Amino acid sequence: MSRICIRAGWSFVAMLGLAGPSAAAMDARPQLLNVDGVRVSLEFLDSDFTNGAEPLVLWVKRSLGIVAAYYGHFPVSDLRIRVSSTSGGGVRHGTTFAAHGALIRITVGRDVTPAQLLNDWVLVHEMTHLALPDVGPEHAWLSEGVAVYVEGIARAQAGNRPAVDVWAEEAGSMPRGLPQEDDAGLDHTHTWGRTYWGGALFCLLADVQIRQRTGNKVGLQSALRAVLRASGGLVSDWPIERVFAVGDAAVGTKVLEELYARSKDVPLATDLPALWQSLGIEPAGGTVKLHDDAPLAKIRDAIMRAPVDSTLAGSDRPTP
Ligand SMILES: [Zn+2]
Repeated sequence: MSRICIRAGWSFVAMLGLAGPSAAAMDARPQLLNVDGVRVSLEFLDSDFTNGAEPLVLWVKRSLGIVAAYYGHFPVSDLRIRVSSTSGGGVRHGTTFAAHGALIRITVGRDVTPAQLLNDWVLVHEMTHLALPDVGPEHAWLSEGVAVYVEGIARAQAGNRPAVDVWAEEAGSMPRGLPQEDDAGLDHTHTWGRTYWGGALFCLLADVQIRQRTGNKVGLQSALRAVLRASGGLVSDWPIERVFAVGDAAVGTKVLEELYARSKDVPLATDLPALWQSLGIEPAGGTVKLHDDAPLAKIRDAIMRAPVDSTLAGSDRPTP
């Protein structure tokens, strides 16, 4: 499985069968890192980057730690990361593979700064792809939606991004995930907006509903941890129904299965302004104000806190 993940620019390219790494990456001698027990082979040319190797190594370690904390452990015990350089700054786009060992190819500007790496979403997004089974191209909305949704929350839980920024992005971007005219449901509408933000909206609705039905004790994060534990993540091919059955069983609800049944073949109408209001999220000129007296304010805040369900963490770590 491979997928190019681009959030900015609003273009969408899915399931490209790309060939191997670039010539520059192949010439690089890998740095071998051990990050919290995960063996990482990091391949890039130091000389390509204005600020050298250290900021990139710190970026990889930080991103890996963010994803490991969200899932209770990192999805794989061995990971190769091949960094290709390009002109300019910033982190551009990435692709994640799992068929022959976990591999992330990512393109970074030669002039990338430590601040840009600190604020990067791309590598966390790509690493998150490793935690969900391959559910097939017709369900790209789930794999991309989970990656978009988890990235912000995982970074907020790790202190890498303010929670209010995550909510502001969701309030600004979730409308892109709403069904447009002629929408045929998530499984049959493969536009950029429905794939990335339609999938993320599915995750948000599921998270809120799981928390409503469990007295805010657990949420989507616990379901996703259970799916990773049972599947091993992207190395497995699973029917999407199995993902939802395992996730639902872990949290003791039928939210995922029911929400999928309601949205896979038909456009599911969602009143986003009402949802933000119930969560106490008030759009305010590009950012949001959070109100603690809203009916679902405690659910909103719990989403941004790491779960305490110890049964789903720690001891579930796979043997390297
Ligand atoms: Zn992606």
